[in-house]
Amino acid sequence: MEFKGKTVIVTGAGKGIGREIVRMLVERDAQVVALTRSAADVETLRGEFGCRAIQVDLADADATREAAIAALPADLLINCAGTTELQPFLETTVEAFDRLVAVNTRAPMIVAQEYARSLIKEGRPGAIVNVSSVASFVGIPDHAAYCASKGGLDGLTRVMAKELAPHGIRANGVHPTVTLTPMAVKAWSDPEKAAGMMKRIPVGRFAEPADIAEVVLFLLSDQAAMVNGISMPVDGGYMIA
Ligand code: NDP
Repeated sequence: MEFKGKTVIVTGAGKGIGREIVRMLVERDAQVVALTRSAADVETLRGEFGCRAIQVDLADADATREAAIAALPADLLINCAGTTELQPFLETTVEAFDRLVAVNTRAPMIVAQEYARSLIKEGRPGAIVNVSSVASFVGIPDHAAYCASKGGLDGLTRVMAKELAPHGIRANGVHPTVTLTPMAVKAWSDPEKAAGMMKRIPVGRFAEPADIAEVVLFLLSDQAAMVNGISMPVDGGYMIA
């Protein structure tokens, strides 16, 4: 997969899967524009990878649009930022629901709008990968708002795939199972719950960030030129009925 000379926007670049994506892209001579929240991560992204890093809270729609515009021009886009809060369905609060939808669904839409508008204006092709989750296919207890937000993201991916492909811009979704990152610690630190999940993964392990990053990079690359609008599980077989 060739990314030399390409500029790639990566949201949620500070930690976990996003950071691994940045590492792999920089290794392949891409220029990365990282969007992330924590100031400390902005500094280490600049120091470790020499990338442009923009600090933004993606829960804030106006700030997100401003950051997306500041990140341009770019050849490729990965919407990787995501967040979760565990609440049983009956106790899911409107505030938590709105927060998760803002970060997991609305922010990818805003960033993709600005990215695609600039490419269309310049008559250049591109590709978008939205990092969703197996939680958009399966009802996971305590993840009502998260499942809903990722289901919404999948809807956006499919519409983008149809509306943007005539302009030469592909859009695809990647759906990780539990991946060993700070988010997984937050969601799966109960050993009993984690064991139940692990039992349903035929390969017998949780994913590493690199397992997900490789698939993201493939879908982003020209090797996937004919792949558009798919939802690709990266789940060790979890989705097999
Ligand atoms: P992490 O929590 O490890 O990292 C998420 C990154 O996104 C962090 O850099 C975080 O910054 C950033 N981010 C979160 N909220 C915001 C915000 N409001 N504004 C700006 N940046 C933000 O998550 P993962 O790497 O595990 O997850 C990456 C993606 O993969 C997410 O979309 C997630 O939903 C998805 N996923 C993860 C799975 C897992 O098991 N890990 C399973 C399935 C899907 P900061 O820390 O500064 O807030």
